[in-house]
Amino acid sequence: MSFRIRLTLAYTGFFALALLLLGWGIYFSVRQALLAGVNRDLWAATRQVRAIFNAGGLEPVRTPTGELDLYLRSEFIQIFNNPNLGAQVFDPNGALLNSTPNLDGRDLPLAASALQLGPDDVGTGLTTTHEIDDVRIESLITPLVLQSNNRVVGYLQISRPLRDVETTLSTLTGILLGGGAIALVLTAAGAAVLSSRALTPIDQVTRTAQSIVRAEDLGQRVPVPPQQDELHRLAVTINELLERLERLFNAQRRFVADVSHELRTPLAAMQGNLEVLERGGLDNPELAREAVADMRRETGRLIRMVNDLLLLAQSDAREQLRCEPVELDTLLLEVYRELRPLAGEVALRIGAEDQVMVQGDRDRLKQALLNLGVNALQYTPPGGHVTLGLEQRDGYALLTVADTGVGISEEDLPHIFDRFYRADRSRSRYSGGAGLGLSIVKRVAEAHNGYATVASAPGRGSTFAIWLPLPPRPTPADAAEQPVLEPAEV
Ligand code: ADP
Repeated sequence: MSFRIRLTLAYTGFFALALLLLGWGIYFSVRQALLAGVNRDLWAATRQVRAIFNAGGLEPVRTPTGELDLYLRSEFIQIFNNPNLGAQVFDPNGALLNSTPNLDGRDLPLAASALQLGPDDVGTGLTTTHEIDDVRIESLITPLVLQSNNRVVGYLQISRPLRDVETTLSTLTGILLGGGAIALVLTAAGAAVLSSRALTPIDQVTRTAQSIVRAEDLGQRVPVPPQQDELHRLAVTINELLERLERLFNAQRRFVADVSHELRTPLAAMQGNLEVLERGGLDNPELAREAVADMRRETGRLIRMVNDLLLLAQSDAREQLRCEPVELDTLLLEVYRELRPLAGEVALRIGAEDQVMVQGDRDRLKQALLNLGVNALQYTPPGGHVTLGLEQRDGYALLTVADTGVGISEEDLPHIFDRFYRADRSRSRYSGGAGLGLSIVKRVAEAHNGYATVASAPGRGSTFAIWLPLPPRPTPADAAEQPVLEPAEV
């Protein structure tokens, strides 16, 4: 069963329940009101007949059968005249003595329990119900009491048929059922239209999602309804999700293409060398030596690249990151010592060196710093300077590697931290880099809740920086500011 039908049924069901309760409430209130009216009629008539009875100068008249028979047989009851009500008088034993003509001989029996009524029950009486010819009749029985000696000398029963009450109630039932049925049909139709209208945008979203799946095109977006409601938010969220998926998917595709491309070059070079060896190169020691040296270089490149890729993958999965106190000043000194043999004619030195401790993974941080140092030495011509620095700034530990090298052009600068990006392909290729060094730096910094920045001016040099939050961590508002070093600070 579709959601639309379930929604319509649920709406209609709830409405039917509400209608049922309302109808039930109306029916019983009207019924109570009508029966209260009947009761009022019965009491009014009872009071009237009792007044006639009491007005009769009531002195007991002795007769052979009983002192009051004569009087009670008298016609006092005939004075009472109401077409809707019948009156009957019974003797103390419950035998009928007299009744009004409108009862037309259809005498109603006196309930046995009425004989228990005493002089004190004049104000309360007893209510009974009879059914004659399918007509319900309500009766009120009260004792007739002689005022002089407070004796019960008979019983008065006033009766009223409930035909009009029942007619009114059955008409009301008809109206409630008929009206309810019409209201229910209208509600079901309205609910069907409303739920169909409400679900149309969701249908659109589903159709778009299906076409995305069919066409494998993450570039499509779901239509966003103009009203700022839940469906608007849903569409916007789905579009954001699609955008993120598209970005990730494209990045992954690019990454696989880049990796294949980077692997192909050294492998092709090695294949060429193997062919040289096969075609007689082995007999020529000079050629063989060259080919083997070449292959060793390419194998070294491959190993470096695979190691870098592994490092990147590990930095992506943050849970593998160790979290221990790291003395950055000691780390900086260690990196300085490892870089010194590579410096050649470049002056490598340490600038500012605060004592700073952060929480993090020492090995990863060292790798990142080494990457920056190696790059700086590589892209700085002989006679230039490379300066390593460490200071505290704005709640961050700031590790810097500044050089006076070739610098980076403005168009390369935004992409410099991308994977496999090389500013000058031929130059980097010669130096053996695959364009992964800086993306490792960025990843490591981000894995420590920090970030990496660069400031550079072509021909003047570059300053790379790693910003690591100092414990306690700064608020997100601080992180948003992300200060950037100026090349002038080189
Ligand atoms: P690679 O392994 O090719 O060096 P990186 O990710 O480390 O890859 O660097 C990417 C590119 O950024 C390099 O190809 C280079 O052109 C440029 N680059 C990196 N560091 C410097 C620097 N200190 N000075 C000038 N250019 C640099």
